[in-house]
Amino acid sequence: MKILLLGPPGGGKGTQSKLLVSKFNIPQISTGDILREHVKEETQLGIEANQYMQNGELVPDNLILDMIKERLLKNDCNKGYILDGFPRTIPQAEGLDRILEKLNQKLDKIVVLDVKDNDIIKRMSGRRMHMESGRVYHIEFNPPKNEGLDDVTNDKLIIRKDDQPDTVKKRLSIYHKTTKPLIEYYDSKNIVFSIKGNKKIEDIHNEIITKIQNV
Ligand code: AMP
Repeated sequence: MKILLLGPPGGGKGTQSKLLVSKFNIPQISTGDILREHVKEETQLGIEANQYMQNGELVPDNLILDMIKERLLKNDCNKGYILDGFPRTIPQAEGLDRILEKLNQKLDKIVVLDVKDNDIIKRMSGRRMHMESGRVYHIEFNPPKNEGLDDVTNDKLIIRKDDQPDTVKKRLSIYHKTTKPLIEYYDSKNIVFSIKGNKKIEDIHNEIITKIQNV
């Protein structure tokens, strides 16, 4: 099963991806997570990408496509994967088409998480993250067992710099201009379905599963 999750930043793609990982036992491929790993390790890519990420801007397409090409070749992708946060631009989608063609693969389902800007701003301001693992919480909707601490390691949770309000607004405007047109790009493939993202995490998950298995 090869699934692509599309939607605004902070719209719940990461959370839903992780639930799909457990359900289907396939890896989540999050370009945001891979980039954050590079930033942490201070690789050449990480140093270059960090300036864009801190500003809430998109990392250039060529860097992202090289990174994805390498990731999709790994053995754990054989049974399928969940693409989370990629592609984010038309050139990235075209690049993905070329990569998939070479690998003789195609996407099975595309899930669009539809969430209003105001809800996103509310969500992102409450988002907390465990840097080491990428586990994400929300102070209201998905709180950790102990305030401010990761459930598994008890490490301190952080607020990502790019979750600050001004950066969030910038990221949303980039989403509307650059990423949303992908819905139309993929529409002709007849594998796209949209889900309202202003519901409980579990309800959204169940709806995704029903749609994935029925469409
Ligand atoms: P995310 O965790 O998916 O919200 O991504 C965090 C940041 O990483 C974004 O704001 C971008 O700066 C960068 N990023 C992640 N995925 C992509 C992508 N597919 N194309 C360009 N930049 C990306």
